[in-house]
Amino acid sequence: MDINKLQRENIKNLRPYSTARDEYKGQASIFLDANENSYGSPLEENYNRYPDPLQLDLKDAISKIKGVPIENTFLGNGSDEAIDLLFRAFCEPGKDNVIILPPTYGMYEVSANINNVEIRKVNLLPSFQLDLEGIAEAIDENTKLIFICSPNNPTGNSIIRTDIETVLANFNGLVVIDEAYINYAKQRTFIKELTEYPNLVVLQTFSKAWGLAALRLGMAFAARPVIDVLNKVKPPYNINQATQDIALKALQNIEQVNEWIKITVAERENLSKELATLPIVKKVYPSDANFILVEVENALSTYNSLVDEGIIIRDRSKVTLCEGCLRITVGTPEENVTLLDALKRP
Ligand SMILES: *Cc1c(COP(=O)(O)O)cnc(C)c1O
Repeated sequence: MDINKLQRENIKNLRPYSTARDEYKGQASIFLDANENSYGSPLEENYNRYPDPLQLDLKDAISKIKGVPIENTFLGNGSDEAIDLLFRAFCEPGKDNVIILPPTYGMYEVSANINNVEIRKVNLLPSFQLDLEGIAEAIDENTKLIFICSPNNPTGNSIIRTDIETVLANFNGLVVIDEAYINYAKQRTFIKELTEYPNLVVLQTFSKAWGLAALRLGMAFAARPVIDVLNKVKPPYNINQATQDIALKALQNIEQVNEWIKITVAERENLSKELATLPIVKKVYPSDANFILVEVENALSTYNSLVDEGIIIRDRSKVTLCEGCLRITVGTPEENVTLLDALKRP
């Protein structure tokens, strides 16, 4: 894989924005270079200074937990920003294409459409695993990205590891493995394989197991040349100071996160068993994530009756291969009991 051929021509030639703080070297105590308010903020804490564009303190703390070097780490305003930047950096609008594997996360297609990049859909097999032949047939010389979501949203299963390795070994573009739900999975993460595959991009997020969806903080891990391109294209201050501060604090409380993961996985197994006993339920799909895909007799009427009880789940019944299915996030034990009670009522 040649990063120079992979990135868009205009990106290869791009001179990135140089921030005020990029341009001085050495020690300083008076900053009159960025037109900030020198007095402070009308708050208890000060946010008057622009944040570190490369978020080095936060990346250092993430690196200690993940074991991935800082130079292989990119932080985005949610993983959604990383997804968008992959399109903007690597896909020539109206010319290049990407491969997605429905049923899957909706943002890949939306991002492609925003960036006017052709989408090639290769449906998962009925087992929700990769159609390797179909993927091989869909690839041409303009295919830049393949998105593999594992554990997959909305189906909940992990993708067979050796199948992902087959794609990684045979595709010359970037293979983006979206591991938003990896903390709930039995399968190992791919972040340990970065040295093995120059074309691997692993996405993770603080929005799920870390309980920080409102902060908007996502991670992309990849080989250095890929990270360098993303850093060149990103808005200079894409992670705000409050997010950097709060995320650093959260990273010191990993025990709480691990405790919630254990409870969520136990609740997932329990909720799956209970759902399977309900007369309206036709199938409960096994899940490696913090949600469960369930096929029911009448998805829309079940969905609506839950809404009437003030319980919101996701209707996925119109989605490819998910006909008649609902996606239910695993809640607290109390929430799950309330859900089951509502589903038992005639
Ligand atoms: C929830 C989710 C994300 C998270 O996106 P953020 O922008 O980081 O909140 C990413 N990928 C998938 C598949 C998801 O379901």
